[in-house]
Amino acid sequence: MDPSSKLAPKTVHSDPPAFQDLPSVDELLGRSRMISLSSKFGRPIVLSSARAVLARVRAQIKSHGHGPKVGSDLEAEISADVETRLALSLRRVINATGVVLHTNLGRAPLAREAADLIASTATRYSNLEYDVAQGQRGRRDAHTRDALAELAGAEAAIVVNNNAAAVFLVLHALAKGEEVIVSRGELIEIGDGFRIPDIMTESGAVIREVGTTNRTHIRDYESAIGEHTRLLLRVHPSNFHITGFTGRPSLEELVATGERFHVPVYEDLGSGCLADLSEQGIREPSVGASCAAGVSVVTFSCDKLLGGPQAGVIAGKKEIIERIRRNPVFRALRVDKLTIAALEVTVKAYLRGALDEIPALRMIRMTAEKIRERAERFVAVLAPRLPGHANPEVVAGDSVIGGGSTPDQQLPSYLVAIGSAVRSATNFEERLRENSGGIPVVARIENDRVVFDLRTVQPDEESELMTAIVQALR
Ligand SMILES: *Cc1c(COP(=O)(O)O)cnc(C)c1O
Repeated sequence: MDPSSKLAPKTVHSDPPAFQDLPSVDELLGRSRMISLSSKFGRPIVLSSARAVLARVRAQIKSHGHGPKVGSDLEAEISADVETRLALSLRRVINATGVVLHTNLGRAPLAREAADLIASTATRYSNLEYDVAQGQRGRRDAHTRDALAELAGAEAAIVVNNNAAAVFLVLHALAKGEEVIVSRGELIEIGDGFRIPDIMTESGAVIREVGTTNRTHIRDYESAIGEHTRLLLRVHPSNFHITGFTGRPSLEELVATGERFHVPVYEDLGSGCLADLSEQGIREPSVGASCAAGVSVVTFSCDKLLGGPQAGVIAGKKEIIERIRRNPVFRALRVDKLTIAALEVTVKAYLRGALDEIPALRMIRMTAEKIRERAERFVAVLAPRLPGHANPEVVAGDSVIGGGSTPDQQLPSYLVAIGSAVRSATNFEERLRENSGGIPVVARIENDRVVFDLRTVQPDEESELMTAIVQALR
């Protein structure tokens, strides 16, 4: 202790306690409860929590002139602090919003088989970059390359961290320091501040905007092509559309112009639509159609409509994909083995035509009628468990695909709507998220009621959801 402090006059506080009543960190850690906490979780974290709690109490004394009761309260606070810090932050939630590809909730849930391959690949060794037959080095992209190329209808395909990385890499590898021509109407922001013009600038490519916001003609591209032009870029404006007096050349026209001037066309599709979802009313340009139109390179996301893990695919002409693969930045953006495991299972489910094995596609393809049956059964079981002030009913509504793709594309659905005479919808919704001891439930509020869309609730989550609703309305 600082010897001078002995000389300082002491202010005598009886109750409430102040600074001098606080134990030292050493003294605290010597108490029996703290000793057993240290033996359970290790001394360093208990020490750091003790310091944090003491600092909090001191700040409280300073601003209020007194702190909380000294004694066992401090110990309880330290235990709670240690436990909060050690609890896993990333955890499961139940998505009852009906937004299938909810970016905040992790976008696409993976197939069981994908999760199993992730687990075995993660906990054991694998042939990630090893050719077992030859007993020599192999390539990590071998596992997904052929299936992706086949599904995209492309000569070759590589995978990077996400589609933003794919866009960056294509522009960087093919057009750094040179020009890329793009329609002004396609210089869009995808969401969360991701802007196509920004990523283009960061890639080192020079943007050459042509046309106007609502209309761009093929002659606009043609007159902009010069000796520095390396790419004609087409961006799928995923999350918005303009209506009225609009227009842009067809992809075929753009490809024809590219061929005439020997400039490759690159299309950023955003959502990687590999399946035909027209029956569900989804009008997303498919990867196959883009490649069939003669585009030299396309990029798309793996965790949007494709329904796989976070990753981005670059597919196209062999010679161009090879150039991109040889760029040193490819190494910095490569995917890890767990992503490859999940992606391989997902794309092979497509190859087998087993779309319903992919949870996001199963949810999108689920008919409104099927959801209504589930919702009615749900309400029949739930209603008797609810207090009298709550009245659940099944109402018609919409699900949203989400994921920065297919903006206004909604899927007709049925919702379980619950209003309460004593609890406000906001309070009910908040209690569902808290769901202490259980899995947090995320739901929507519509017309002063909380609504649950079973499209995004997996059947084996229904009983947990029901319990959470009962608890929250108690
Ligand atoms: C979503 C999207 C991206 C970014 O994809 P991520 O996989 O989220 O990185 C890029 N371009 C377009 C057109 C998109 O829709």
